[in-house]
Amino acid sequence: MAIYLYNTMGREIQEFKPINDKEVGLYTCGPTVYNFAHIGNLRTFIFEDILKRVLIHFNYKVKHVMNITDVGHLTDDGDSGDDKMTKKAKESGKSVWEIASFYTNAFTSDASELNLIKPTITCKATDHIKDMINLIKRLEEGGHTYVSGGNVYFSIDTFPEYGKLANQNLDDLKTAVRDDVSVDANKKNSKDFVLWFTNSKFGEQQMMWDSPWGRGYPGWHIECSAMSMKYLGESFDIHCGGIDAIPVHHTNEIAQSEAATNHKWVNYWVHGEFLLDETGKMSKSKGDFLTLSLLKSKGYDPMDYRFFVLGGHYRSQLRFSFENLDNARKTRLSIVSKIQDLLDDGATKVAIESLEATSLKDEFDECISNNLNMPMAVAVLHKTLKSNLDKSLKYSLLLYFDEVFGLKFDKIEKRKESFPKEVEDLVNQRVEAKKARDFAKADEIRDEIDKLGYIVKDTAKGPVLSKKL
Ligand code: AMP
Ligand code: ZN
Repeated sequence: MAIYLYNTMGREIQEFKPINDKEVGLYTCGPTVYNFAHIGNLRTFIFEDILKRVLIHFNYKVKHVMNITDVGHLTDDGDSGDDKMTKKAKESGKSVWEIASFYTNAFTSDASELNLIKPTITCKATDHIKDMINLIKRLEEGGHTYVSGGNVYFSIDTFPEYGKLANQNLDDLKTAVRDDVSVDANKKNSKDFVLWFTNSKFGEQQMMWDSPWGRGYPGWHIECSAMSMKYLGESFDIHCGGIDAIPVHHTNEIAQSEAATNHKWVNYWVHGEFLLDETGKMSKSKGDFLTLSLLKSKGYDPMDYRFFVLGGHYRSQLRFSFENLDNARKTRLSIVSKIQDLLDDGATKVAIESLEATSLKDEFDECISNNLNMPMAVAVLHKTLKSNLDKSLKYSLLLYFDEVFGLKFDKIEKRKESFPKEVEDLVNQRVEAKKARDFAKADEIRDEIDKLGYIVKDTAKGPVLSKKL
């Protein structure tokens, strides 16, 4: 089935056609590890996981690369503000390396609890400084850079298509320079950006490397160009991130990559909309933000949050509130309970063959292939649960849907049978009698259990109780 995706480049829904027939190259901008990921960041990572699962569902092999930003990201996406890692290290009295390692582990744990399929390659910026230096050298050879005030800048005037992703026009950007008084005086154009800092405004910067331009560290954008091209080649299929990355980060990534290679870099740009909290945009720099651990401490399961996210289309803003999360939780628990009913009834996984089941399967595939319409896909799930389909077909369809939902339906088990306390006590007394080699008493107790309507069987794992039919 053809997959349709909204391509930010071109601003339209397009049929997805991979460069190689059956393998897709996917790059997603990873977390900046100076703090916990907030649930807004996690919304973006869940959307990217859904996209990846849809590709896998339609039999593509996906090579997914995600970076870990552990150097170079300033509090502003341009070149102003503080260095995020350095600032956090100063506040906490730890080294930047300790900060990076702690928050990378915290992110990995969130990702696993949210059932995000691990990237094929997760790469740290600090492990790829050489690749970044080589790319900057290539840009320098092509005449796209200049050194000013000790830093190496990318000159956007050398790349006439600058701003094409955000529909920005180079002439407008030039006008903006004249009007913007906060611009770094070293820049020829206010939208030029740093590729390599040597004259760091952060004297206490702990992460520094030697380079042809002096000891320093990379700007933020160059890492994604260098690492994606290293692992996915100089042209690949899909690049994702949150919508905030469009005007600066991804715009600059395109400028660097295409200026260096002289050809188109990425075919599909897919961006996720923001999660809003009650006060508006959720952001790490606001300090007070919601994390997955916080939701867990309030008794929510990570799957409640994943299900909440599935309720919104990735291209629409989603408003978080505890009331909305409670509703998602209630619905999810009722789905789990219905799956348990099916299992208690003896449902097993079977081939999806009947006409009605196949039509629900097709309806689901239609939704997900249509620009990842997950809210509609969830509606198909409810429709399936309400249908009169045979229990095993129903169960099998739910497992099929869950390849994409990722809600761990396959981990749901039958309800454990519970027995009256009186009967459980008798079973324990019989175990004691047998231990004491008092077999007459053990037989007496077995009879008592039998009279109460239960059967006890001795197995290698111990006694097993069941109700007499
Ligand atoms: P960061 O760790 O700040 O680099 O962000 C990780 C990802 O989260 C990026 O793709 C951002 O675009 C995305 N992001 C940031 N804030 C939000 C938000 N409120 N809602 C959804 N995604 C977000
Ligand atoms: Zn990036």
